Amino acid sequence: MNYLSTRGLAPQLRFSEILLGGLASDGGLYVPEAYPRFTAAELDAMRGMSYRELAFAVLSRLVDDIPADDLRALIDKTYTADVYRHVGPGENAADITPLKTLEPGLHVLALSNGPTLAFKDMAMQLLGNLFEYVLDKTHGELNILGATSGDTGSAAEYAMRGKRGIRVFMLSPEHGMTRFQQAQMYALQDANIHNLVIRGVFDQCQDIVKAVSNDLDFKSRHHIGAVNSINWARVAAQSVYYFKAYFAATQSNDQQVSFSVPSGNFGNVCAGHIARQMGLPIRKLIVATNENDVLDEFFRTGVYRPRPETKHTSSPSMDISKASNFERFVFDLSGRDAARVRSLWSAVESGGSFDLKAHSAPNGGNLFDRVADFGMVSGASSHANRMDTIRTVYEVYGTMIDPHTADGLKVGLEHREPGVPLVCMETAQPAKFEDAIREALGIEPVRPAELADLEAKPQKKHVMDADVNAVKQFIVAHGH
Ligand SMILES: *Cc1c(COP(=O)(O)O)cnc(C)c1O
Repeated sequence: MNYLSTRGLAPQLRFSEILLGGLASDGGLYVPEAYPRFTAAELDAMRGMSYRELAFAVLSRLVDDIPADDLRALIDKTYTADVYRHVGPGENAADITPLKTLEPGLHVLALSNGPTLAFKDMAMQLLGNLFEYVLDKTHGELNILGATSGDTGSAAEYAMRGKRGIRVFMLSPEHGMTRFQQAQMYALQDANIHNLVIRGVFDQCQDIVKAVSNDLDFKSRHHIGAVNSINWARVAAQSVYYFKAYFAATQSNDQQVSFSVPSGNFGNVCAGHIARQMGLPIRKLIVATNENDVLDEFFRTGVYRPRPETKHTSSPSMDISKASNFERFVFDLSGRDAARVRSLWSAVESGGSFDLKAHSAPNGGNLFDRVADFGMVSGASSHANRMDTIRTVYEVYGTMIDPHTADGLKVGLEHREPGVPLVCMETAQPAKFEDAIREALGIEPVRPAELADLEAKPQKKHVMDADVNAVKQFIVAHGH
């Protein structure tokens, strides 16, 4: 299996070769040269598999340059009831992603039982083990550099802590994260984890990461890598739980299921798209945004118009103004036309937009008409919608959901069809977003017992000015 770039000008590579990298050399994103497709008989055999067995069945079709036994061992070590142990009442941690049924045909898939209580642990934990494995083989070393305003940084740190060959340098803004989110990262005492707290805002953190990564000489001399949301292994690992949920929500494989997905960088819903391309009977993939509705605008109108400004909302992990994985979907939508993708993104990258209604499709009509063939629909949610949904779900079903999941459920219900099970992806636990829960319900969310005194734990962090050279010096002093 080769991987090729959505822009068609980068060399084709194997899974292990794109694992540690970011963008392809032509600025595109790597995708499989063709999606493997499960036959009906294979899908029948997958019903009843455990999470680990499913993960192997799916990922072994996408990864063919890691020996099967090694891949299986990495998967078995990752998806355990001990790692995904923060289950709610009545949930079984051995399910890894338990399906909670609100009412017949309406479910929430618990994806946030991992160490940081957000769904990013689903892929990041596997990534940590894959990185360590590949670096071991090549005797390589990696300094992971990133910027976070919340969930990504902590998921990366919990996945990479103690891993051989890996050091993490995670920039976070001094203000802007919740105390819980700060404590989650800064309480880690592992020698290979470095929290750089920047006297500034998130955008400054991100600018520093870009400046360091653009210094190609520094980047290669100091083995700088990233774990951002375009990482192919993350997207691939996320496609597994669509299979798990599908089998849990249906009795037989002639049924279809719709998924609603709280979306930001389009990573989670892109994983659903891949599961669908691999033959999983998914009816609709419902893209839910918050007030930052660049994706909703696209799926309603065909116009993709990244915004210069990002709004700060009460579902902050979806606060993005351009969706970095979206290019993977548009590549497939265009009939895998790399020249078309290059021209669309050259407009976007010079600050503009594109309108797929103005682009003709290979078999007639325009490209936007084809969106329906891929099952994608969308909607947006506001602060008031979010609060209402948290309240209603608590009152009607006795279930507490976090603000991101609330956005997903609100939009999902707008697209619900009789007779088609709807699964809403739960992307974080309410305990992570206490302020929003207090506002909606007037009570405190329950936290896993072992995190009860998280904010009181000693913290390891380095506060520094928003200065590229200071960050570089820190990496030189503490990196590989
Ligand atoms: C990252 C995140 C999202 C958005 O997921 P994408 O894959 O970027 O679309 C939604 N909710 C939560 C809680 C997140 O952490």
